[in-house]
Formats: sequence, C-alpha cells, structure tokens
Amino acid sequence: MPSSDEDLDPAAIRLALEDHRRLTRDRVAVLAKRPERGAAQGFGKRIGDGTTEAVGRLTEIGVGRSLESTLARTERALAKLDEGSYGTCDACGEPIERARLEARPDSVLCLRCAAAERRPAAPPRR
Ligand SMILES: [Zn+2]
Repeated sequence: MPSSDEDLDPAAIRLALEDHRRLTRDRVAVLAKRPERGAAQGFGKRIGDGTTEAVGRLTEIGVGRSLESTLARTERALAKLDEGSYGTCDACGEPIERARLEARPDSVLCLRCAAAERRPAAPPRR
C-alpha cells in the first residue's frame, strides 16, 4: 500500500502533540517551582544587584510566557484534531502548508498568518 501524500497520520500527530504538551508542562512546572531566593535576599542588597536580579526575573517571565503560549498552541492543535479541523489555519481557514505541519505539528496557523501574528502588536509609526 503506497503511503498517501494527502493524509498525515492523525494518531502519530496526536502522540507527538501529547508528548510535546507533557514536556512543555514539565518545563512550566520547573519554572514555577523555582525558589525565589532573589525576593528573600533582595532587602539587604544594593540596587545594582537587585537590577540584575530583576532582569533575570524578567527573562524568566518571558520564558514562562513563551512556554505557556507553546502549551496553549499545543492544546489548540489537539483540539483541532478532535474537531477535524487539524491542518486548517485558525485565522484564515486556508490549509496549513504540509511541510510546516511536518516541521511543527503544533501549528494552528498557516505561514502567512503566523508571520502576521509574530509582528509587534502595536507597530511603531512609519
Ligand atoms: Zn492563515
């Protein structure tokens, strides 16, 4: 039986997505559990040290946010598998490029819409 060029294997995709979701959840949990030593020691420190720590926290928050958005996207892709809309762009309804789905099974937007979403929410005046 020739392997079809048209259908991705939903069972394999689901497994990959569930695996990805589990790993991402683990990473979120590790970040959330990290003891906040900076907060406890901060009072006795000089401003310079505190600033470094604040930047560290911001980076961590940024990582946490990106993990959360990865998790949300993975959940969405799984929901789309259930709905039967997997492989269709959530924004424009066009099919998502197959190569894109193969590279990133958690894709819920086509290339064009994903690129549009990555732009800053409030672009500066031109
Ligand atoms: Zn689209």
